[in-house]
Amino acid sequence: MTAPFIAGNWKMNGLGTDLAEAKALAEDLAARPCAARVALCPPATLIWRMAETIKGSVVELGGQTCSAEPAGAFTGDVSAAMLVDAGAKLVILGHSERRAGHGETDASVRAKALAAMAAGLEPIICVGETLEQREAGQAVEVVSRQIAGSVAAQMASAPFAVAYEPVWAIGTGLTPTLEQIEEIHLAVAAALREAVGEAAARTPILYGGSVKPSNAAEILKTPGVGGALVGGASLKAADFLGIIRAV
Ligand code: PEP
Repeated sequence: MTAPFIAGNWKMNGLGTDLAEAKALAEDLAARPCAARVALCPPATLIWRMAETIKGSVVELGGQTCSAEPAGAFTGDVSAAMLVDAGAKLVILGHSERRAGHGETDASVRAKALAAMAAGLEPIICVGETLEQREAGQAVEVVSRQIAGSVAAQMASAPFAVAYEPVWAIGTGLTPTLEQIEEIHLAVAAALREAVGEAAARTPILYGGSVKPSNAAEILKTPGVGGALVGGASLKAADFLGIIRAV
């Protein structure tokens, strides 16, 4: 059985002073190893310094997006190779905040994922329905379509992960019922089998959306849940450890 994968998304939070949280996390995990695979995805400006801060730790690092282009005249963008160069192993792609605020589509997420994998990064592809879509009974259809559009068949050749993040649960304190989480994870797994065949079985499907120490254990025990993508509760080592130790 693969270890549950707990990844933290710092979003646009974190200055040099916050590296102390990453250090505290790394030190705690070194003192008391855990059963989970753990990653932090800080803003791009902190990846290099965080890599130095937690050198030798089990904590892996990731970016929060990358360009689909390898290099060139793309002001403000960061390529997959640049993330690798800074010390990242992973990259979150297609987060709903990027889909909503930066015009990312399934097609652009797919192109970014292929670029990320070509550079040696492991993508975490995010999918999830809005509240409107859930209330219209479209959640399964929406995430299945997002997987079909964002995950290319070639991705079967290297590891990647998927995160199911209902948009209405992100940063709101709201979470789906465990039955709803299980239903969507099953649908994501089925869509992944269509997209990448047998590789689907080794692709963890994380749940994301208001995961905290108090609800982590029951969510992580839900059938089909292979880990968690954590936003707000990953910013402080103590909170994030509360989730990691719930595994
Ligand atoms: C996220 O942004 O990926 C997320 C899950 O946020 P939060 O945990 O704060 O809901």
